[in-house]
Amino acid sequence: MSKLIFVTGGVVSGIGKGILAASIGALIKGRGYRVSMIKCDPYLNVDAGTMSPYQHGEVFVLKDGAETDLDLGHYERFIDEDLDQLANVTSGRIYSAVITKERRGEYLGATVQMIPHVTNEIMDAIKGALEHSKAEILVVEIGGTVGDIEGLPFLEAIRQLRRSFPPEDLLYVHTTLVPFLETSQEAKTKPTQHSVAELRSIGIQPNVVVCRSRRAISRKLREKVALFCDVDQEQVISLPDLNSIYRVPLYLQREGFSAILDRFLGERRTADLAIWERLERIIESPHPQLRVGVVGKYVGMRDTYISVNEALTHASLEEELDLQLVWIPSEKLEGKDLSGILGELDGIVVPGGFDPRGVEGKIAAVEYARCQGIPYFGLCLGLQCAVIEFARHVCGLEAANSTECDPFTPYPVIDLLADQRGLEAKGGTMRLGVYPCSVQEGSEAWRAYGQDIVWERHRHRYELNNEYLHLLERGGLVVSGRYEELGLAEIVELPGHPWFLGTQFHPELTSRPGKPNPLFHQFIRACARRASLRWKN
Ligand code: GLN
Repeated sequence: MSKLIFVTGGVVSGIGKGILAASIGALIKGRGYRVSMIKCDPYLNVDAGTMSPYQHGEVFVLKDGAETDLDLGHYERFIDEDLDQLANVTSGRIYSAVITKERRGEYLGATVQMIPHVTNEIMDAIKGALEHSKAEILVVEIGGTVGDIEGLPFLEAIRQLRRSFPPEDLLYVHTTLVPFLETSQEAKTKPTQHSVAELRSIGIQPNVVVCRSRRAISRKLREKVALFCDVDQEQVISLPDLNSIYRVPLYLQREGFSAILDRFLGERRTADLAIWERLERIIESPHPQLRVGVVGKYVGMRDTYISVNEALTHASLEEELDLQLVWIPSEKLEGKDLSGILGELDGIVVPGGFDPRGVEGKIAAVEYARCQGIPYFGLCLGLQCAVIEFARHVCGLEAANSTECDPFTPYPVIDLLADQRGLEAKGGTMRLGVYPCSVQEGSEAWRAYGQDIVWERHRHRYELNNEYLHLLERGGLVVSGRYEELGLAEIVELPGHPWFLGTQFHPELTSRPGKPNPLFHQFIRACARRASLRWKN
């Protein structure tokens, strides 16, 4: 079997198209099919690596080092599969392939055009991903909103795919916003009608319309959408805002998506959705509250640290705790008395980041966590801040720093590797993707993982400078994880502290609902131990 499901979006962006696509993936996987997912992003960047996380949200790094759109993180979390670079198709990648072929003379004689050259390249990318993944069903999300100029070649390509596949093997799912008007207290389907009309004008008649709204929409409204959009009534699904994204698969299943999938897949299989049922039970019951602070540079947008947010959530769900995240802009901490801001927290996380902005505030947060015995978890830059803080305040290296923040520091405790110094390019010069990390027996990391070797994903340039290793170790810092081949520090921890650990890799990227990353799990347990003192009072 090889079938394709396309997920497009209309009216506005940001209505959870990625979560919808991922949830459809989860329902298919639950039925025991081999499923994979790809995202087509209409922007001109070749990959998401050079995009600002403030504008576009987090860059999600895959096992093979591909720097991708954050929706791929949702896909991996929901279908519990590792994806690869073929799973993120951008216009930049497509155009650059077409232009390379043109220069090589592969289209000799032809005028190279949007249709068929660009659209063929897109179709090849989709078919290639389907073949390579060996999936029976591939879910293809088209980024952006129907009507965007950039998205047109992708929509044209998925329309043309009807020539390569029998119609019963393709399912077009369109999701739109149904706004609720406070003044008249009614939900409006007009934008949905317009959006579907626009899609039909490109030649795509959706099979399923998913209406996103604040509250569930009535049967009558769904009938109206069915009539105006020429979609079967049972194929109009209402998907209101839910209190957790992990409730979406079951919600869709109950709202009739299960019958849609039965019809599309040509057989009725009972879905094993036990993991989603278990999570739903936990989400729906009351739990004691845990307060974890995330000290980051960009805290205006949740998407910037979405995997950190999800990883903390997975671990909290497992411990049946109600996670309250407190987002703290690190610049606000510089030169302040921190007890008012950080004193009430059960744990502190410093996530990854680039450039010097806000780093001193992060270092101050580390110092506070270390001295006050608050569980601390440093991710990538968060490890680097922990090492700098330790060098300055425990080892007496007063102006210690990372050469990323201060190129002239007398004590470059975090530095580029010798063969990277002098590199000027920004793209492709990072340590990216999985590397093996040997975990030191008996350490906190080892207790968490229960394994001697773990494979975690990286995205950084700077490393702990081994010239200072002795000094740091003499002060009491323990390097409990190493990349043996280059002798690089991967995990540091502080024995004697309730929980203090930093990783050079990004453990948040491998955490999944129902299977939290072991370090996040241990961190949340440590936070709960601290919180239990508060609960008692
Ligand atoms: N800026 C640091 C580096 O390049 C940390 C990167 C990160 O946190 N992802 O090494």
